[in-house]
Amino acid sequence: MMVGAFFFSALAFAQTPTSAVEASALPADLVRLRDAALADDYAYRQLAHLTENIGARPEGSPQAQAGVEYVADELRKLGLKVRLEECRVPQWLRAIESAELVQFPGQPPGSVQKIIVTALAGNSPTPPEGITGEVVVVNDFDELKKLGREKVAGKIVLFNVVFDKQKAAAGLAGEAYGEAVVYRGQGGTAAAEMGAVASLVRSVGGSDYRLPHTGWSTPAGIPQGAVSSEDAGLIAHLAAEGTVRMRLTLTSQNAPQVTSYNVVGDLQGSQNPEQVVIVSGHLDSWDLGTGALDDAAGVAVAMQTAHLVQQLHLHPRRTIRVVAWMDEEDGGTGHEAYTKAHHAEFSNHVAAIESDLGAAHPFGFEARIKPEALPLLKPVQDVLSNLGTNLIHLTSRSPGADIQALAEAGVPAFGIMQDARTYFNYHHSAADTLDKVDPRQLQENAAAMAVLAYELAEMPQPLPR
Ligand SMILES: [Zn+2]
Repeated sequence: MMVGAFFFSALAFAQTPTSAVEASALPADLVRLRDAALADDYAYRQLAHLTENIGARPEGSPQAQAGVEYVADELRKLGLKVRLEECRVPQWLRAIESAELVQFPGQPPGSVQKIIVTALAGNSPTPPEGITGEVVVVNDFDELKKLGREKVAGKIVLFNVVFDKQKAAAGLAGEAYGEAVVYRGQGGTAAAEMGAVASLVRSVGGSDYRLPHTGWSTPAGIPQGAVSSEDAGLIAHLAAEGTVRMRLTLTSQNAPQVTSYNVVGDLQGSQNPEQVVIVSGHLDSWDLGTGALDDAAGVAVAMQTAHLVQQLHLHPRRTIRVVAWMDEEDGGTGHEAYTKAHHAEFSNHVAAIESDLGAAHPFGFEARIKPEALPLLKPVQDVLSNLGTNLIHLTSRSPGADIQALAEAGVPAFGIMQDARTYFNYHHSAADTLDKVDPRQLQENAAAMAVLAYELAEMPQPLPR
């Protein structure tokens, strides 16, 4: 009883942000933004529309275009001045993908074993009937090199690089991903250089429901795919005992570039309209799931920032600019186009925020800022501390792929630092769907982005850079 009563009162305190004490101590507009975000389902409704009514949004697809038009219309409804800024995006058309082991140690006569595989962008298609070859399993690039060309040429290479779930569970999911994803990106070219006829990577991420993870890879002139982590383990086991041969059919291929758009929407009525704070996520997604975590959630919370500022009739000094980036996933042509069009204005971009690590509870922000800028962000930390969203980790890398050019030009750059322990279980797989987003946690993300963006747009002087 005592414990229960204490727990209740502690919870009540933590969730009553507008207490008289707090209201007097904290910047009132930031508190109002935070509380409005936590009481509002705008971002969730946008996320639901993007993922369930529109669906997967691979660049160049009709769904990506529908996403562009939808976000533009919604921002116009909020009163933003909206432009569609052109970019030329690669198109990659998924087609047949199948694999089976046609020879393996212990094989019962007449049997084959199905392998779960998905093509990677960068794939060069197999013939419709597939190719058949011996599988060579390696654990890293060095093992591949040591084998030498004579043991690799004419074969199918499998990079059996295990995603480090322990790192992910300990909060180092990004690091775990970084260690494994280089084999998805560069494995094909390394294998092709040794004369391999195809390159497979163990699915990158922590999924253990035999779901393969797709993604970008450097075009290498050979078929490239990802097999589920379970199947990679199975093949490695069998290859250690004897010869394994696979029939592999991956007919997905590149198509000519097409025109697409970044959606760029500016809140109106600021005193210094030329000074810009970007709030952003990327609108494109892979095709296997519906791109809820990656990254309709980021777009939705960026849209909600504008919605909340309008709803509360706030008028920050500087322009808050919502950007829904196109083609983060397959080449980054959207942010390249933005850089080309706006480079001369980067000195007037006072900050850029991107959310692209899912929608789980945010701990705070990754920030590529000058250390002397940190104390100026204390109001943001104070207002978000009751959510536990008060950390600011300084980083030397860009905290978002789409804002990298801005970050490198010295624009203070921020990424929302979500709890990513399970993010890579779903990321780029068929399981990246709306149900993985907890509405309450999405509200916390919206609060984080809105409070930070508003402070950056309203503080008397922009952050030092
Ligand atoms: Zn993403």
